[in-house]
Amino acid sequence: MSASAQVSLFNTLSRRVEPLQPLAPPRVTLYTCGPTVWNYAHIGNFRTFLFEDLLRRWLEASGYDVFQIMNLTDVDDRTIRAARHAEKKLTEHTAPFTQAFFEDRDYLRIKPAHVYPAATQYMPQMIALVSRLLERGVAYKGEDGSVYFAIAKFPTYGRLSQLDKREIKVGARVASDEYAKGDPSDFALWKKADADDEAVGAAWDAPFGRGRPGWHLECSAMSLEEIGRCCGVQTLDIHAGGIDLIFPHHENEIAQSEGATGQPFARHWVHGEFLNVRGTKMSKRHGNFLTARDLREQGVDAAAVRLLFFQTHYRQPVDFNDEALSAAAEGVKRLGEFRERLLRETRNQTRDEPLKKIAALVEADVQAALNDDLNAPRAVAALFDFVRVANRELDQHAGGARAALEMFDRFMEVLDVLPTARSTDPALARWVGERIAARAQARKSKDFKAADAIRAELAAKGVEIEDTPQGTKWRLA
Ligand code: AMP
Ligand code: ZN
Repeated sequence: MSASAQVSLFNTLSRRVEPLQPLAPPRVTLYTCGPTVWNYAHIGNFRTFLFEDLLRRWLEASGYDVFQIMNLTDVDDRTIRAARHAEKKLTEHTAPFTQAFFEDRDYLRIKPAHVYPAATQYMPQMIALVSRLLERGVAYKGEDGSVYFAIAKFPTYGRLSQLDKREIKVGARVASDEYAKGDPSDFALWKKADADDEAVGAAWDAPFGRGRPGWHLECSAMSLEEIGRCCGVQTLDIHAGGIDLIFPHHENEIAQSEGATGQPFARHWVHGEFLNVRGTKMSKRHGNFLTARDLREQGVDAAAVRLLFFQTHYRQPVDFNDEALSAAAEGVKRLGEFRERLLRETRNQTRDEPLKKIAALVEADVQAALNDDLNAPRAVAALFDFVRVANRELDQHAGGARAALEMFDRFMEVLDVLPTARSTDPALARWVGERIAARAQARKSKDFKAADAIRAELAAKGVEIEDTPQGTKWRLA
């Protein structure tokens, strides 16, 4: 797969699909706002991280050399509140959630970013950024001791989120990290330390007063530091996140970064839609969330989660439910069986290779779909069509399986939706072990109804058991 110049993506800045034009191709710098590690990330968060994973993989498959940065928000209003509640120091509270995030990322087969800057490790850069904004007269110290960004001094404020200028309340101030679109105001760059901040160890000395960074400032400081370090630039090629970040987070990132450097902050802004549950955004606040570890413990194959998400365009909402997940799991199974068949058929060498010709056409279709604003649902549909057509051809003993397999594998490298070799999945093995022990216990106490229910529960997950003189053995059906 080549033709790297063909990749087009919707740009939130222009509200149009535009060709990707990196500053220095083949390099692409990609900044993806990462998790706030106050708690476990839910699969809504991971929908965003998965669309970013797909974007990264497609850019790489198209010949780009991607440098991906994903920050870890380990100090903000939420992490401080959570640490205070748990009566722990900030890093003591966030460290296990950072670790859990990496485990969940690996379970979901998300490629690791090249760097994971954690906000608490970038205080000198954040302090320098605030100093620069003060020097340039776009920031000021409020009478409450915090430092604010003066949005009236930044004429293009509101461009990304298309705020009507009349909505901007000159002189109004907001200190909290998250606020509504109806509230564009001067926002806190640096918040004066209060008793809670001191209690959890979230306060740092700075020339403009002891305090801690605002969430928006963190992403500006970390991204500028990292792209400067890696590539000697001050402009990102792509900045991505969920749509809820457009305002105020990304709007504020632009104001802070451009206010300091005088350079465009990002050339392409890419935003993914939400994962919903019955039409409502999945979120901790609504209580309608599931974590990746919940799915993992239920024995859900990560490939099914990936396929489920990729079957909808990243700019459309996805509704999460068990039926959709089961259907995706069926799809994964079909893809896996098809690949097994292709693998077997590669031995069948014939002079005429109809599958090779079909594969070339499908390859062009899938490539065109992914180049067109990362249209994964169209790509997936073309691949399922191919499975159907190729199976029919193989029934007729058609040749060309090797070329078909090569094409298929190239896209599987991008989508990564083939079944996990389940016998080697430690989470599944652990779960089966526990259920078998529970069944043995039930049989011992002559509760055969419970024992049968456990057997059925295992069978529903494709696990067959057999009682032998050496104990109960299991295998995947
Ligand atoms: P947070 O950990 O809250 O900072 O969020 C991390 C990422 O998850 C951000 O890019 C959010 O936009 C994204 N996000 C939060 N909720 C959802 C959701 N329900 N669906 C998709 N993305 C989400
Ligand atoms: Zn961010």
